[in-house]
Amino acid sequence: MGPELEAFETEFAQYCEVKHCIGVGNGLEALHLLLRAYGIGSGDEVIVPSNTFIATWLAVTECGATPVPVEPNIDTHNIDPALIDSAITPRTRAIIPVHLYGQPADMDPINALAAKHGLIVIEDAAQAHGARYKGRRSGSLGHAAATSFYPGKNLGALGDGGAVLTNDEAIANKIRQLRNYGSTVKYRHEVTGYNSRLDEMQAAFLRAKLPMLDRWNSRRREISVQYAQLLAEADICLPKAPEFAEPAWHLYVIRSKQRDALKAHLERQGVSTVIHYPIPPHRQACYQPLRGCRLPIADVLAEEVLSLPMHSELNIEEIGRITTAVLGFRQSTRRPS
Ligand SMILES: *Cc1c(COP(=O)(O)O)cnc(C)c1O
Repeated sequence: MGPELEAFETEFAQYCEVKHCIGVGNGLEALHLLLRAYGIGSGDEVIVPSNTFIATWLAVTECGATPVPVEPNIDTHNIDPALIDSAITPRTRAIIPVHLYGQPADMDPINALAAKHGLIVIEDAAQAHGARYKGRRSGSLGHAAATSFYPGKNLGALGDGGAVLTNDEAIANKIRQLRNYGSTVKYRHEVTGYNSRLDEMQAAFLRAKLPMLDRWNSRRREISVQYAQLLAEADICLPKAPEFAEPAWHLYVIRSKQRDALKAHLERQGVSTVIHYPIPPHRQACYQPLRGCRLPIADVLAEEVLSLPMHSELNIEEIGRITTAVLGFRQSTRRPS
């Protein structure tokens, strides 16, 4: 917790257009510390997307609360604000919208519902560094946000890292205390805290990379436009950004009814793809009591999604090869009658 961290916290807070950035050990801990800072625990319910990386749910169970899944809009892949109201109970304390794949969630209706019911809104912004919603940066759209600097994120460290973002000074101070053994004065421990620090080396790497983030993100945006043009005729469902969104294009996720065959075809053509995510949280062994619950949209997405290569360093020749391989799948499956 030296000068590199302090400088990075100031610079990243400025970038995200919030007052406070507090570096922590990783994204999962950023979410978990936030829930603890808001006093959320046993007996409380927290609304989470059914379609997300498992860390969103793990943070909730880690603090003793219950994750209550809400289905996504099938086109945006993000939590459907229209379905949140009926998931709210007297025990609900918070909503964690996730800007999945770098696409901002529809925050205005979520914030309006939260205000009506007195709930906290914590953004999971781990995939959305630099994304904007109606002109505002992800990380500045709720009461607080958690983000991750895992090396594969748009802004990645050379190891693990994470941060909490907020305009709320009291919450910022609680996070500073919780990340440092529950201490504000050395060797005095007011609460049972954690060791969750963003170390000086990672902060220094992040400071060196932050000035390039907007350039990298705009290259991702260009690639998404090229994919959309070149794949317009492909027999797959392309991601579409809603009008309110300026996505960070962390991933370029398409949908196909023949996803597994398409994935195998692309692999044969030398194009690696990844499934984000093959098993939704409610079907994981660790959430076995929830396995009977019906979340059909999350299930369909797990069967149909496929992430095409997406990175700021992809060049036009590679994009050509990838899109040709995708278009070739349709031809190879068209059988003579
Ligand atoms: C990566 C990620 C996290 C967790 O971040 P870690 O730093 O890996 O702990 C949480 N939520 C989402 C949506 C993520 O993509």
